Amino acid sequence: VEKTNDNKMEKIISLAKRRGFVYPSSEIYGGLAGSFDYGPLGAELMFNIKHLWWRTFVSGREDMYGLASSLMMPEAVWQASGHLDGFTDPMVECNKCKRRFRADHIESTKECPECKGELGEEKTFNLMFPVELGSTEGETSRAYLRGENAQGMFVNFKNIIDSFHPKLPFGIAQIGKSFRNEISPRDFLFRVREFDLAEFEYFVRESDWEKTFEYWKEEMWKWVDAVGINRESVHELEVPENDRAHYSKRTVDFEFDYPFGRKELYGLAYRTDHDLKAHMEHSKVSLEYLDDSTGERFIPHVVEPTFGMGRTLLAVLVSAYTEEEVKEGEERIVLKFKKAIAPVKVAISPLLKNKEELAKKAREVFDMVRKEIPQIMYDDNGNIGKRYRRQDEIGTPYCVVIDFDTLEDDTVTVRDRDTMKQDRVKIDELLGYLDF
Ligand code: ATP
Repeated sequence: VEKTNDNKMEKIISLAKRRGFVYPSSEIYGGLAGSFDYGPLGAELMFNIKHLWWRTFVSGREDMYGLASSLMMPEAVWQASGHLDGFTDPMVECNKCKRRFRADHIESTKECPECKGELGEEKTFNLMFPVELGSTEGETSRAYLRGENAQGMFVNFKNIIDSFHPKLPFGIAQIGKSFRNEISPRDFLFRVREFDLAEFEYFVRESDWEKTFEYWKEEMWKWVDAVGINRESVHELEVPENDRAHYSKRTVDFEFDYPFGRKELYGLAYRTDHDLKAHMEHSKVSLEYLDDSTGERFIPHVVEPTFGMGRTLLAVLVSAYTEEEVKEGEERIVLKFKKAIAPVKVAISPLLKNKEELAKKAREVFDMVRKEIPQIMYDDNGNIGKRYRRQDEIGTPYCVVIDFDTLEDDTVTVRDRDTMKQDRVKIDELLGYLDF
């Protein structure tokens, strides 16, 4: 029996901390607003999500080129892209308590939501983080931490063309950190100041942008299913012109029903030829594409799907988190992760911790499985029931138990996380049974 639950966000935040998924950053010093650290299980989970994304959209395709570009990029890049002027949020400050808010995120721009004081004039606030490079006065130069990964793809467009001579359509993809000086970071991993972004720029002929847009929209839905985000909680939103980013002619947001409301998860934007054209003008380097077969030269247009990895991890946690009544009066919390992204795939235990022959056999099985499936855990704490509950709570798909029968007939018990059913499996058939 599944139980719906209140305070789901608080429960997830507390589980994430207790079990080592996500910690507030620099907590022993009081933390830093808008920063979180991934603990051992969160780091594995994030790695698995990124790996799945890369396999789905980059290494599993022939039309995609992977990239890992610098986080710091010169001012000229952001001047050309329009981010120094256009990458702003509307901000209001309370005259009384001095707190700042995003004007489009509060109910009224007259009264402070915190202290009811009077709010000042609305101003635009630029989200880019400037950094001064160099140690000698007069020789410093200004760079910016990238506010999106996309500019890395645009400034490398010519490099990729020269090295690989790709035919249109093709994409350039990367996963990496982006930085935004958010006015009011909040809602756990949802709005932070540094976050992992997975995105690609897909280059097409202008006449192909609409069908390309539809194609990637469908592929994004497939990803939602593959990574284990509840499809019923995801909704497309056609973003009206006045809410679109400065570079976009059409944007569809994928919104998710977070416990704190329906908000953006992913974006899909038609960026036209805005960026390549701007970089060509500013850098004076030709960024035209040459079609060998027709001799045409032109600037390709761009469709860009963008996936926040922190928001993905959050939506995955929200989708996976389940409280169930196992039997009368007995409850369990279980994270029903897709197997491919579970941070621990298998837990291996001896039935009893201090029976040497069981522990020895369990270690043998552990070593054998780990060679094939690296993300496993040896767990001999407490009794079996408690171990199952603990593994459920971190979403481990299988628990393998070595007991006295194992010593006689070389079989083990394999318990399934979701059905809680137990099977007796021969050790030499175990790897096949654990279908990873
Ligand atoms: P919002 O309207 O929520 O500020 P945005 O429209 O500015 O977001 P995009 O520019 O489309 O967001 O950013 C691309 C993706 O990056 C988003 O779909 C989201 O997944 C992620 N993202 C953006 N800002 C943040 C943030 N502050 N913290 C975590 N993820 C973010």
